[in-house]
Amino acid sequence: MKRAADDLGVLLCAAPIGAAASAAFDGARLREDFPILRRTVHGKPLVYLDNAATSQKPQCVIDCEARYYCELNANIHRGVHSLSQQATDAYEAARDTVRRFINAARREEIVFVRGTTEAINLVAASYGQRLKPGDEILITEMEHHSNIVPWQLLCERSGAVLRVAPIDEAGELMLDGFEHRLNARTRLVAVTHVSNALGTVNAVKRIIDLAHAKGIAVLIDGAQAAPHIKIDVQTLDCDFYAFSSHKLYGPTGVGVLYGKAALLEAMPPYQGGGDMIRQVTFAKTTFNDLPYKFEAGTPHIAGVVGLGAAIDYVSALGLDAIAAHEHELLAHATEQARAVCGLRLIGTASDKSSILSFVIDGVHPHDVGTILDDEGIAVRTGHHCAMPVMEHFHIPATVRASFALYNTRAEVDALFRAVRKAQRMFVDGRSA
Ligand SMILES: *Cc1c(COP(=O)(O)O)cnc(C)c1O
Repeated sequence: MKRAADDLGVLLCAAPIGAAASAAFDGARLREDFPILRRTVHGKPLVYLDNAATSQKPQCVIDCEARYYCELNANIHRGVHSLSQQATDAYEAARDTVRRFINAARREEIVFVRGTTEAINLVAASYGQRLKPGDEILITEMEHHSNIVPWQLLCERSGAVLRVAPIDEAGELMLDGFEHRLNARTRLVAVTHVSNALGTVNAVKRIIDLAHAKGIAVLIDGAQAAPHIKIDVQTLDCDFYAFSSHKLYGPTGVGVLYGKAALLEAMPPYQGGGDMIRQVTFAKTTFNDLPYKFEAGTPHIAGVVGLGAAIDYVSALGLDAIAAHEHELLAHATEQARAVCGLRLIGTASDKSSILSFVIDGVHPHDVGTILDDEGIAVRTGHHCAMPVMEHFHIPATVRASFALYNTRAEVDALFRAVRKAQRMFVDGRSA
């Protein structure tokens, strides 16, 4: 059916206005796109430096989701009525947006899920069915729990063995140790693109080439990479790539699993239900084509549409410009951190994303976090869902500041003023 140009489904995902169109990257100006950044915490302006946990949402994403509910809400892939068709168009347009964003060859290779966690669980449950006792899965010591636990569960079910490639004192993967653990029994390699606890950017292309040389499939956990690094799944040649919308300025509850069509084709369904079937009888059910075979039930339609708007926003700014800005902030923060005596950086890899993890002698990270919160500064304190990383460095937790496109140098300065205040209070016993 032909649609009018002023169709709501088309307008809904229209590219964002304002800042995104401006030529020069202006962090301070871009802040205006994020309404939450206007609020205060304990009477101080919010300094949001917990972007690796989740990023804030620009107005265009919020508007896009609201407009979906105000103007098009219907279930998708079901009705012949106009609303259902327009909702389907908006949902499928977001799939095309994701395909372009990561340069997948085909739209069928984009599966919408709840987030990185579900994407990895999908692969473990479905691809994992081919694993036999004695087969091996290789991960690294710097993985997020969501790229550890699904494999442990799979190992329990299948009798496969989980092997772990070590990291060094800088928090870099030891490539020789990794290569050493690839063998004839390895069935899958699952590695994070960027460590959420350390900021380390892994040489994923090299990792993928090493695994492929032995005929081993590779899953990349891209949760921390998607907001910062231009991803090209065809150049990487990864077999699976997973990321979450909410760390990419999009809504919570949505994520993406990219999988090579031939692999997804050969994999059994993950969940059964509506939308994933072709024909159901009590004797036998046949399954729908890709990607619908892996999208059982009503998905988070509004969230998917919102993710499309978030990708449009980020793409209009340019990931390279965003990364350059964030690297500048990271360099500034690293320099300030090095000037604080008693502060130890955790994660000093030569290639790092905009994450600064640290500990301070004599002050528990949670106490640092509390003092920072009093100043309106949001950082993450804890093990960052990467307990093995904490164990590696013999620490219980770190303070983690993570930067996004809207952060400024002034915010980095505020962070270190507050860090010094915490140090004065706890170490020197002086009140600030
Ligand atoms: C956040 C994160 C995950 C999990 O993502 P969810 O959105 O919570 O599913 C997995 N891996 C890394 C590296 C992460 O940072």
